[in-house]
Amino acid sequence: MDFALPADDDPRRLSVRSWLADHPDPTGRDLAEAGLVAPHWPTPWGLGADPTHQLIVDDELGRAGVRRPTNTIGIGWAGPTILLAGSPAQRERYLLPLLAGEEIWCQLFSEPGAGSDLAAVATRAELDGDEWVVRGQKVWTSFAHAARFGILLARTEPDAPRHQGISYFICPMDAVGVTVRPLIDMTGAHSFNEVFLDEVRLPAECLVGERGQGWSLAKVTLGNERVSLSGAGALWGMGPTAADLVDVVRRSGGSRDPLERQRLARVWAEGEILRLLRLRTVSAALAGMEPGPEASVRKALADEHGQHVMGLARDLAGTRGMLSGAGPLGESADGGPTPWPDALWSFGYLFSPALTIGGGTSEVQRNIIAERTLGLPHDPPA
Ligand SMILES: Cc1cc2nc3c(=O)[nH]c(=O)nc-3n(C[C@H](O)[C@H](O)[C@H](O)COP(=O)(O)OP(=O)(O)OC[C@H]3O[C@@H](n4cnc5c(N)ncnc54)[C@H](O)[C@@H]3O)c2cc1C
Repeated sequence: MDFALPADDDPRRLSVRSWLADHPDPTGRDLAEAGLVAPHWPTPWGLGADPTHQLIVDDELGRAGVRRPTNTIGIGWAGPTILLAGSPAQRERYLLPLLAGEEIWCQLFSEPGAGSDLAAVATRAELDGDEWVVRGQKVWTSFAHAARFGILLARTEPDAPRHQGISYFICPMDAVGVTVRPLIDMTGAHSFNEVFLDEVRLPAECLVGERGQGWSLAKVTLGNERVSLSGAGALWGMGPTAADLVDVVRRSGGSRDPLERQRLARVWAEGEILRLLRLRTVSAALAGMEPGPEASVRKALADEHGQHVMGLARDLAGTRGMLSGAGPLGESADGGPTPWPDALWSFGYLFSPALTIGGGTSEVQRNIIAERTLGLPHDPPA
């Protein structure tokens, strides 16, 4: 690991500070126009920042208490694919509002018969004059009910080998024929949906990249998704970390139970390993190397780590852990010093089984590691 953040008077730091002095309360659009939402993107959307520069910007925004716009799928993995393969007109139309958080995006990939085996997508898109007519069904579509656009995989070449017959589209979620039905998960939240596509007519310019090349773009999207979903927080990069849980226990007087102490040490050590793995990704990028399959290693470890953190928090809450809204060690939102509301811990526990499913299951991540890193044979064909 060869990595240290540059000094406090680094000109790149001073430049962010000077911008923040002029924009003390920036909007999402201000941040997007200044290239500060995704600094590693090329100008005019980003700053063309290398990983060190990116970390400097993150550090400075964090110190100033500035939050970037939330648009998980848009900024995390739809935008990078449009940046890579979109036409100049598509980049011009979609990227800035996406970065500003003004237009939320969703991902219309999974179907009832195509999850882990995504190349089995059965949704069809047929060219009719200069429009594509889309028929099919998607499922587990996060934020579809809030989204303005979706990235959509559909089969355009039914007779081609299945990986070559898929195309990648941008689908306006208010197009005639798009029906979104909520799916409520066991946390009680409505975050994902079923989406029915019934004779949806998409103009030709909604195709991203070449016709029939959607599978290679889908792989780019999924690679970015894996990296985005394995950030520091225990819930796909969001929410509390293992170190936050250890802090809660420390502030509550520590634990004398040897098994609890062992589990606390374990989640803390896992959190450190993941932190170092993230730095290794940065270090490799600094040396000009591509991240490679460690995105799958990171996600496979981070998902199970999230379940360990949330399971331990629930157990530390004792019988209170059975109640929604309960946090570890019986801290109350007003009485306890934790920066995380109790409800987030109980939500996190109920959400955590989803961690090893969404964004590619743990078994699928292990298949990728086995095949691409360890050189083991591919799965036999279904
Ligand atoms: C919270 C959440 C949000 C989601 N959001 C979205 C979204 O926004 N957009 C979207 O398109 N999808 C989304 N998904 C769907 C997600 O991508 C799929 O659930 C996932 O890819 C698994 O597919 P599946 O559910 O069809 O399970 P299946 O593929 O049917 O898998 C069932 C079981 O079989 C195992 N399995 C399957 N194939 C293999 C294999 N080759 N080797 C070993 N084991 C295997 C799996 O690991 C799993 O345990 C979301 C899922 C969750 C949980």
